[in-house]
Amino acid sequence: MTERVERLVKSLASNHRLQLEEYQELVEAQSPETAAILVEQAVAVRREIYGNAVYVRGLIEVSNICKNDCLYCGIRRSNSHCDRYRLSLEDILSCAAEGYRLGFRTFVLQGGEDPFFTDQVLSSIVTALKSAHPDCAVTLSMGERSRESYQLLREAGADRYLLRHETADRAHYETLHPAGMSFDNRMRCLRDLRDLGYQVGCGFMVGSPGQTSRTLAKDLKFIEEFKPDMCGIGPFVPHKDTAFRDQPAGTVEQTCYLLSIIRLIHPPVLLPATTALGTIHPEGRELGILAGANVVMPNLSPVSVRKKYELYDNKICTGEESAQCRDCLSARMASVGYEIVTARGDIKK
Ligand code: SAH
Repeated sequence: MTERVERLVKSLASNHRLQLEEYQELVEAQSPETAAILVEQAVAVRREIYGNAVYVRGLIEVSNICKNDCLYCGIRRSNSHCDRYRLSLEDILSCAAEGYRLGFRTFVLQGGEDPFFTDQVLSSIVTALKSAHPDCAVTLSMGERSRESYQLLREAGADRYLLRHETADRAHYETLHPAGMSFDNRMRCLRDLRDLGYQVGCGFMVGSPGQTSRTLAKDLKFIEEFKPDMCGIGPFVPHKDTAFRDQPAGTVEQTCYLLSIIRLIHPPVLLPATTALGTIHPEGRELGILAGANVVMPNLSPVSVRKKYELYDNKICTGEESAQCRDCLSARMASVGYEIVTARGDIKK
């Protein structure tokens, strides 16, 4: 590693910011040596704020019906091979009750943009979840909606919202999405969510088709400026029924490298070691935690639907019961010296 790169890492660790060109340089300087010094710094700041705690979020995949047609996604509207499902209110409440028994205090409802989930329907689900489990946080990850809709859901009790920005480069955004979707609307959603008092998560896929060190530098700059409460990054993994089927998946090395950088940009950020990372490497999630992540999201969806929520090929954790999923992740975290904690796990600012 050159002295110049070492200086960039030191500067990032103490100032939590770099110039756009410097981010690009750092992304291009990826090597085992550079990764090692980033990890050292990232783990040290994470430990100061969160100790060896890893927060868990119970993921409930509420529907794979989607009106959007994102080019990378396995549940995109035009995938006619996707076997569609939608959970009922009762299904969702029973997944959450099981999760609660297992110690989960955050539930993440994620799904395609299913028109069935009108403001009224989704608000009543949020209200029911909050009244059944008042000590739990409810996170939504249901895509782009109007400001009014986000406001109603917030009033119904939703605490957090995950909406990956996908890429901070407009031209890149347009190559990943059909003409009907817009970069401006995605960014508008994130700003509205922030204004309405949600804890907000953005994020992107690592290695998505068309991604460059330049677009990644823009992602990092965006994260530096937006300061999200959560940031979901995981490797792009091709799905067989999409046009990107032959594109290479993102790598564990680059994902971990970026996790360390993001930890240094915004030290308190809640950063998951994602299922996609666990999909491309048998110890991907452990490696993510060791690089600076501090959240895992075990699956609480009914086993009968798990295979159907296939955003990408070979997604893991589709065959097990929720309790097995939780125990497996606890053991994995313990194996690298971390401990899963039962807590809502709000960001420490
Ligand atoms: N519809 C919601 C949430 C579901 S998709 C939304 O738009 O926010 C959740 C995330 O999965 C997306 O933001 C995307 O970054 C990721 N994803 C989709 N397809 C993927 C793929 N092929 N590989 C890796 N991640 C993918």
